[in-house]
Amino acid sequence: MQVYKVGGAVRDRLLGLPVTDIDRVVVGATTEEMLAKGFRPVGADFPVFLHPKTGEEYALARTERKSGRGYGGFTFYASPEVTLEEDLIRRDLTINAMAEDDQLNLTDPYHGQRDLEARILRHVSPAFAEDPLRVLRVARFAARYAGLGFTVADETMDLMRQLSESGELQALTAERSWKEISRALLEDHPQVFIQVLRDCGALKELMPEVDALFGVPQPETHHPEIDTGLHTLSVLEQSALHKQPLTVRWACLLHDLGKGLTPEDEWPRHIAHEHTGLKLIKAVNERFKVPKDCQELALLVGQYHTHGHRALELKASTLLELLQSFDIYRRPQRFEEFIAACEMDARGREGLEQRSYPQADYLRGAAQAAREVAVQPLLEQGFKGPELGEALKRERLKALKIYKDNA
Ligand code: ATP
Ligand code: MG
Repeated sequence: MQVYKVGGAVRDRLLGLPVTDIDRVVVGATTEEMLAKGFRPVGADFPVFLHPKTGEEYALARTERKSGRGYGGFTFYASPEVTLEEDLIRRDLTINAMAEDDQLNLTDPYHGQRDLEARILRHVSPAFAEDPLRVLRVARFAARYAGLGFTVADETMDLMRQLSESGELQALTAERSWKEISRALLEDHPQVFIQVLRDCGALKELMPEVDALFGVPQPETHHPEIDTGLHTLSVLEQSALHKQPLTVRWACLLHDLGKGLTPEDEWPRHIAHEHTGLKLIKAVNERFKVPKDCQELALLVGQYHTHGHRALELKASTLLELLQSFDIYRRPQRFEEFIAACEMDARGREGLEQRSYPQADYLRGAAQAAREVAVQPLLEQGFKGPELGEALKRERLKALKIYKDNA
């Protein structure tokens, strides 16, 4: 039997990048031989094994055939006769379809090295179209390697466009899609992920609510970039430049969805878009079964980001309502993430990227002032139950008035 490193490990070594996860393919072996060597099988119907000592993944060389809609519709064929070249041809991109042995001899039948040098993301074969997830994968790799100058080959974009138009993207499960989306958002250039999806028509299929933002104008005085879609891309870009966590990046992507619903005769203004957007944010959250922390922050940022921007003008009572809505007493981190998302929104405007955002410290200070109101004296005065809650609110409001007057 012959063992080769494949996929990302080979690609990233050739790019001079650190290799974290190593995938291996085994040619010329049977399941029985693997088990006899102590390898542990991973799945019931998948010829993938874990090494008895290192726990790393070893997959038997296999071919695939599409037998139905979506990812469930695949049949695998693994046997000792399947060659390395046959295994590599079922892979998504040429730069992911190279293998190397222990001596670093490269097997590269589909010219991945040439495409690495030319900085091109190119599909290996027409079988690319058999798994719609590859549309998201290519967009994710574009987001990851944009800084190195990688772009998607024209003919691959054509295939991605055909796949998007065919409606096949609808067959993807929420879990598989979210895994790609979340990983892509955490890349260095998440805005490229969205841009590539838009360019091939996949954004309209996956997140029509985001796609609808392109072509929608905003007032030039606040938004020199005017277009709401471009603004969204910039906000996402800022979120990566500032190393924000996934929750914040997700909220950045969805914060302005309501602007896609504004009647054209109201353009470029978007009255109450914070509220009209909530049902759209909820729909996208549910479509991809997004983790709860991401769902929550996206809804809160959608609803309150304009409060964040107007923080210094808010009445003490409105400020208190904002803090209460975030439950800052038990969830301090979530409020920090809200502030971060507001700041990214403000910076994601053409020419205003470097402008300071004094609202951030002001909001932090307000949260601090509200938190410092002690419960003990109120208990000592005999307050309990709902009355205690009311008294606490009154004291916090007082504290916020003082904070506001001194700010
Ligand atoms: P990463 O650095 O993100 O791990 P990777 O290229 O190693 O990148 P994996 O998801 O670990 O990505 O997959 C390993 C390899 O398996 C890929 O390089 C590719 O050759 C192949 N592969 C994975 N998923 C698919 C898919 N949906 N369609 C085709 N080939 C795939
Ligand atoms: Mg990998």
